[in-house]
Amino acid sequence: MPTARDLVQAALSEGRKVLLEHEAKALIGDYGIPVTRVKVAKSEDEAVEFAREIGLPVVLKIVSPDVLHKSDVGGVKVNLKTEEEVRRAYREIIENVKSKVPNARIVGILVQEFAPSGVEVIIGLIRDPQFGPTVMFGLGGVFVEVFKDVSFRVAPLTERDAYEMIEEIKGKVLLEGYRGTQPADKKAIADALIKVGQIGLEIPEIKEMDLNPIMAYPTGIKVVDARVILG
Ligand code: ADP
Ligand code: MG
Repeated sequence: MPTARDLVQAALSEGRKVLLEHEAKALIGDYGIPVTRVKVAKSEDEAVEFAREIGLPVVLKIVSPDVLHKSDVGGVKVNLKTEEEVRRAYREIIENVKSKVPNARIVGILVQEFAPSGVEVIIGLIRDPQFGPTVMFGLGGVFVEVFKDVSFRVAPLTERDAYEMIEEIKGKVLLEGYRGTQPADKKAIADALIKVGQIGLEIPEIKEMDLNPIMAYPTGIKVVDARVILG
């Protein structure tokens, strides 16, 4: 397993400014943040083999340095329950990407564990010109995009900072369990917030990071998509 630093150096030496999803997940996984299992398949047969290994249902996604928003180009197929569905998804993703981004370099197809739905949260890392690495927290989807309901703390984060970030968002009630939904594991979220701050301090080559979405469960969390921008 390459370490976080090796992954960043390898990408930079290839002149790349963006880590592919499996690289970004390996990097944050190296810091102990829980991520879905992933394997890059180079053929349909290999995708089926990896799906068996990981266990159905799985998710398939395009792996390409030219595709940043994978679902926008038909590059994500979720909850694939049979080997036949895996084969069909593999072919459809390649077709979709080839028609929507004709010159895209296709590295392979990422096979990953399907994460059951939980409360969707987002953790980001930005570099403030004045304060340096700064961690962002919010709830997934419209909460961040429409309501801008987010909180920020400058790294390093104490445990108290991390819990305050969670308490500060207006939609926090969604993390506390309502109408029969289970409360989300705030300790696991706080732990990930602290680790993202640590990554920002220890790897200055990372300009920006976006863990979106993260599924938060009554016990534990799982990062479902991760983007890392270097610079
Ligand atoms: P994009 O590049 O478009 O942001 P994502 O990897 O975030 O692609 O996938 C799009 C959506 O598909 C996610 O927001 C999530 O709802 C769902 N999804 C992606 N990966 C998984 C997974 N491993 N398990 C469950 N749902 C997933
Ligand atoms: Mg995403």
